[in-house]
Amino acid sequence: MRSSCLIVVLVLCSQLAIAQNQKTDWELLLRSIPSPERQREYMQRLSARPHHVGSAYDKDNAQWLLSTFKQWGLNARIESFDVLFPTPKERVVELIEPNKFTATLEEPAFTVDITSGQRVDQLPTYNAYSVDGDVAAPLVYVNYGIPEDYDQLERMGISVKGCIVIARYGAAWRGIKPKLAAEKGAIGCLIYSDPKEDGYYHGDVFPDGPWRPKDGVQRGSVMDMPLYPGDPLTPGVGATADAKRIPLKDAKTITRIPVLPISYADAQPLLAALNGPVAPEHWRGALPITYKIGPGNAKVHLKIKSKWDSKTINDVIVTIPGSLYPDEWIIRGNHHDAWVNGAMDPGSGLAAEMEELRALSELLKKGWKPKRTIVYCAWDGEEEGLLGSTEWAETHAAELKQKAVVYINSDAIGRGFIGMSGSHSLEKFINGVARDIEDPEKKISVWKRSQLQRISSAQSPEERSEVRTRPDLRIGALGSGSDYTSFLDHLGVSSLDIGYGGEDGGGIYHSIYDDFYWFTHFADTEFAYGRALAQTVGTAVIRLADADIVPYQFSNFAETVGRYVSELKKQLEAMQNQIKERNQEITEGVFSATSDPKHPLVPPATEEVPPYLNFAPLDNAVDALSRSADHYDKAAERISQAFVPPSQEALKAINGKLMLTERALTHAEGLPGRPWFKHLVYAPGAYTGYGVKTLPGVREAIELKRWKEAEKEIVRVATALQNEANIIESVARDLDAQPTK
Ligand SMILES: [Zn+2]
Repeated sequence: MRSSCLIVVLVLCSQLAIAQNQKTDWELLLRSIPSPERQREYMQRLSARPHHVGSAYDKDNAQWLLSTFKQWGLNARIESFDVLFPTPKERVVELIEPNKFTATLEEPAFTVDITSGQRVDQLPTYNAYSVDGDVAAPLVYVNYGIPEDYDQLERMGISVKGCIVIARYGAAWRGIKPKLAAEKGAIGCLIYSDPKEDGYYHGDVFPDGPWRPKDGVQRGSVMDMPLYPGDPLTPGVGATADAKRIPLKDAKTITRIPVLPISYADAQPLLAALNGPVAPEHWRGALPITYKIGPGNAKVHLKIKSKWDSKTINDVIVTIPGSLYPDEWIIRGNHHDAWVNGAMDPGSGLAAEMEELRALSELLKKGWKPKRTIVYCAWDGEEEGLLGSTEWAETHAAELKQKAVVYINSDAIGRGFIGMSGSHSLEKFINGVARDIEDPEKKISVWKRSQLQRISSAQSPEERSEVRTRPDLRIGALGSGSDYTSFLDHLGVSSLDIGYGGEDGGGIYHSIYDDFYWFTHFADTEFAYGRALAQTVGTAVIRLADADIVPYQFSNFAETVGRYVSELKKQLEAMQNQIKERNQEITEGVFSATSDPKHPLVPPATEEVPPYLNFAPLDNAVDALSRSADHYDKAAERISQAFVPPSQEALKAINGKLMLTERALTHAEGLPGRPWFKHLVYAPGAYTGYGVKTLPGVREAIELKRWKEAEKEIVRVATALQNEANIIESVARDLDAQPTK
């Protein structure tokens, strides 16, 4: 009896151990599967020909992805949409006065780089969704063409009204440049790649090195994505065959003035022809010329005419049904379309995503049954304006709002440090994942490596000490620039964007030179970080799919929002002090006394000092959020140590509530002036493009000095945060009510 009892106990113990081990084993097994060699093969296949939206090879890649996923035994399908996609018929940039010069607008092939010679399939260099136009006007150099640059021009007494502006790439998303230029009265816009940003200033140029050669051009979309991304003709709804489309003339995301990107070989003669004042020091690039601003007698002719066709895009979607909670979805995506051959962008991220999926398919064959449904997506049309992900998210909006737990994105990657951005309710979770992934170069965890790197680059002793002592590394907030945008900003699905990089530079972004030759000579040449990405995101997907309770955590979120509120207060105070000081200097005559008569500056006008704003509703909301987050942490901790786990029914109810927490941060009416963007905590800035604005309604109202709007937005954000706190509190109470013995 005793001995048999002991045997029973031993058997039970060993079964428990197997169960425990097995849980870990799935993860370990998953991380052992991704293969660098396979990622190399996928990239070579995917980038063998140009594959922009609507091209034959774009479709071919989608079909190949579909059949590959099916071969792995997965349930895969293609979902198609019809979107507006302009391609140029005519492009002209020429200097017509004081001397003649015609821009080549061509990227030459290099013999060592075979795919760079696939001329017939390559999209010409252009900015998609530029309006058609044919203009001739004086040229003005506007540096990066961001708001501060126009403030500087105003001080110098220079207007761009009726002019064509030339801006260099950098400092903000490219679409902001023509948008702002048009608002300032310009009639055309050129954007060029200065060697200071991604050319010879940094190192050898392609094909001797990774940097942008003189004729390399950065293509890219200039659609006004901060207004709404996706098909310009179907805002807010999926671009299905029968969708109601608005007329092209009503599409607000097409630029108001014509815009073309050019190389620095084409830009140099234009810039050299400028006269007028010498550009301020921080406006100067790395070309061997004196940078001047104009306008003078340098006159430019710019013409662009496009075919405004509808093209079919093909998203490849894989579904792995959940065994316990099929209506809770973990969604994972990376795009498959490219501007040209796209080895780095998007091949490096997509090859990793494929290896994750193959690893998951191996696990399924060995008997793994994920509790939640897993949806893997290879998006089409990302480059042109997040077309594939936006149209899919809009088409399935109602279902996604019900079922989506998390969306995880990746895009182009390189060698180096882990990059983690996203919803702060996932900060603790993704830190946990990063602790378990080994860095392929340093053989320490990618988390540790990132922490040490942050110590070395910290800007202050306080920051350094925080990096050393805070349990979690801070993750960045998401703006826009990749396919998470619709999930997070439009639908309120908690999202993450994960990547690696920071060690290699390069200047082939969106050019014909972003190809297999470049990547395998100058980037993650061993595909070691491609493997690390597959291990990282694969681990995250498994944990999210199998966790009993969805692993959101709210105290990091509450603390982060508290920081955002302090930032806003400081920003307002800084504006008040700055305007007070400037007004005083104007009265004292500082500006007229210091202006050099030979290089006169226009004195600024006096301005009303910004009023004090009532931040109390936000302070109270952050307080409530912190309290409920604390309560939730304690309740979740008790459950995690419980002897008897909650019933499946109880878990379903708890997770159902948790899934609503990110949704509670959205508002049906969206942000002021851009109703598509519904998240009240994260959004791309209206004038930064990719760059994030946190608490965007309040922050942008303050920046634009709209004080009434700021007060209104403070209340709206505070209400959303209070609602969030109420949900968290209610889940914490549900957890408290669970028996644990
Ligand atoms: Zn990309």
